Amino acid sequence: MSRLDFTLAAGPVTVWPQVRAALGMPITYHYDPEFLEAFRRTQHKVAQVFGTSNDVLLMQGEAIVGLEGAARSLVRPGMPVLNLVQGVFGKGMGFWLKDYGADVHELEASYDEAVAPEALDRYLADHPEIELVAFVASETPSATVSDVEAFGRIAKQHDALTLVDTVSALGGMPLDVDAWGLDVCVAGAQKCLGGPPGVAMVTVSDAAWEAILANPNAPRDSYTSLIDWKEKWLEHGNFPYTPSISEMHGIEATCDVALEEGIANVIARHDASAEVTRTGVRAMGLELWARDDAYAASCATAVRLPDGLDDVELRTLVRDRYGVMLSSGQGAGNLIRIAHMGPSASGMHPIVGLGALGRALADLGHRVEIGRGLDAGLAALSSAVLAGDGVRP
Ligand SMILES: *Cc1c(COP(=O)(O)O)cnc(C)c1O
Repeated sequence: MSRLDFTLAAGPVTVWPQVRAALGMPITYHYDPEFLEAFRRTQHKVAQVFGTSNDVLLMQGEAIVGLEGAARSLVRPGMPVLNLVQGVFGKGMGFWLKDYGADVHELEASYDEAVAPEALDRYLADHPEIELVAFVASETPSATVSDVEAFGRIAKQHDALTLVDTVSALGGMPLDVDAWGLDVCVAGAQKCLGGPPGVAMVTVSDAAWEAILANPNAPRDSYTSLIDWKEKWLEHGNFPYTPSISEMHGIEATCDVALEEGIANVIARHDASAEVTRTGVRAMGLELWARDDAYAASCATAVRLPDGLDDVELRTLVRDRYGVMLSSGQGAGNLIRIAHMGPSASGMHPIVGLGALGRALADLGHRVEIGRGLDAGLAALSSAVLAGDGVRP
């Protein structure tokens, strides 16, 4: 196997050098005063990255532990919940909601499209009993986004709580947690922030706490418990379980990098990298997965693959021959993704992705206008740099 030169996969991603250094800090006792201070500082910095005044929980474990914990904490048996589905993670949330006994309603769009805000508004008007709306801000496997602001505001107008998977949205698209009424958000650092995997970053509004505390089924003394973090840690300074010291230092450094750059600049860099990639993909004569750029994500660009071409074969070739790691669609469809996340959402990275993908397709006998794609991508990159929109951090 050839050396890996570029990770352009959709998380975990290459982390910033400052993050790698922080991951190597000494391991201390978790109740050492310096670690306690670092943990509280990190919570505060995560809140700043989210731009929220809601409580922040740092749950040890992948983002999945936060999503599963949030769903279990919010859902009572028989609770009417509306789940919005336009991709793999939204679909998966529906299975959890059912497992926890919710009366699950679903609005589903095809995975290359987005659920329309009007459809949500109409559904909630017809079903005033819905208490919770769950949705995914950024469906990473198919690289489409939701209209998070509209969904949040509409849910509030209908008095429903919101549970939002913001794992790949944080740093990759605008999120105004408090103004848009996003009651529970779950993110990971290993996507657009360029941080380590292993920590679920969860925000919880007062309204969500009220619902969780009133839920007799909300887990306690459990790895998935949100209440434990509130009652043991936030209120009494006792950890429900030992956090990984290294990963928490990594998360703090990740936040420092993002806050120093400025969240708006982080997002602009992702937008610009995605724009460069989409321009190149089109000019190569390839088809984007998202039917409309209005909901094409900035954290990754999904490219529709020609019939009969399998993404595994293509990705393996790109990795083995050119040392570039791309992502599959994780079951969303026949597509391949060039991700723009953290350090890979900058400068020439999209051009590397375009070149590797184009040449590998040509190697497999497909007609691809590689030169035209690279030309167009580079022109888009040049315009982005000249416009000062932050594509070079
Ligand atoms: C990556 C991702 C997850 C899962 O996060 P892990 O940290 O890998 O558990 C969930 N939802 C979305 C939208 C993601 O992109």
